[in-house]
Amino acid sequence: MIVYNVRCTKDHVFEEWFDSMADYDAKAAQGKIVCPSCGDRKIVKALMAPNVTGGAKAPAGPCGGPICASGCALAD
Ligand SMILES: [Zn+2]
Repeated sequence: MIVYNVRCTKDHVFEEWFDSMADYDAKAAQGKIVCPSCGDRKIVKALMAPNVTGGAKAPAGPCGGPICASGCALAD
């Protein structure tokens, strides 16, 4: 399962859970995502990275923290 921050045409942002990115695409195309504030069905993804769940944490980098997008600054 993944959660996206999505936004309607009136700039209401809310979280919505999907099975996968394809699930989001299908529901968005079919107008099945409804804004809880105004009932708008024209939904787009808000500019926020999806949070992937499942219990597993991000793999640790050489410094012991999550691997940085551009590589671990503390790596050799
Ligand atoms: Zn709305």
